[in-house]
Amino acid sequence: FGGASVKDASGVKNLLSVLEKVGYKDTLVVVSAMAKTTNALENIIEVYFDNKQSINQNLLELEEFHLKIVDELFENRATKLSQLVHNYFEELKTFFKKNKAKNYSFVYDQVVCYGELLSTTIIHHYFESQGQKSFWLDARECIKTDDYYRSANLNWEQTQSSINSKVKGHQFIITQGFIGSNSNNFTTTLGREGSDYSAAIFAYALNAESVTIWKDVPGVLNGDPRVFKNTELLHQISYREAIELAFYGASVIHPKTLQPLQRKEIPLY
Ligand code: ASP
Ligand code: MG
Repeated sequence: FGGASVKDASGVKNLLSVLEKVGYKDTLVVVSAMAKTTNALENIIEVYFDNKQSINQNLLELEEFHLKIVDELFENRATKLSQLVHNYFEELKTFFKKNKAKNYSFVYDQVVCYGELLSTTIIHHYFESQGQKSFWLDARECIKTDDYYRSANLNWEQTQSSINSKVKGHQFIITQGFIGSNSNNFTTTLGREGSDYSAAIFAYALNAESVTIWKDVPGVLNGDPRVFKNTELLHQISYREAIELAFYGASVIHPKTLQPLQRKEIPLY
């Protein structure tokens, strides 16, 4: 589920109704950060490095954005969940306070991961409140990468075995897209819009029947609908064509997503 599909409380409710239709059994759900949270965090990191003004106000606004969604999802204020959301922001503040690293990309990854941690925590608690048992998985325990911050490369072997051991015994799992960790367990990220790629990695490791990317568009079109008026929906295309589309900039699919799926002939919906 992309960030636009979970941009507000009604998006989260819709996610639940989508799953009610397609079924929860043996399903792993990968979620992006809500709405423009990653951009907001990027902005905070820039301000932090610029050292010009305090980031506390920006952090507070982002916290309020998430708390508002929590309030809209739960009729009786979900104090426990609100506290968890608040704790994430406290962790972020502590990180900024204590951080001595000058490496922009390292700091970036330690910070932007909160977008996905927040979204999945909120959605997981919403599911449970609706009687849907779910297992919240920290993707960083599964997606193992090198130290190439902001565009980390996968260690397939380690990732494969971590996924197998963490996922075992759970029928319905919710986890984060985009984020992973290196051998020192520092957070890494897979590149902007990398959540689709995360879904493909999990699918590959689990020999999934299929992958569905839920977006705010009807599907893959023959042109960018923001640029062209009369675009048509492509009902079916080959992996090769999809890879080419992604390579030449069709932002509907992350370019790295197709390859793991093609290797195991896992259909992408
Ligand atoms: N939240 C990340 C981003 O905005 C990953 C994603 O959306 O797929 O780039
Ligand atoms: Mg996104």
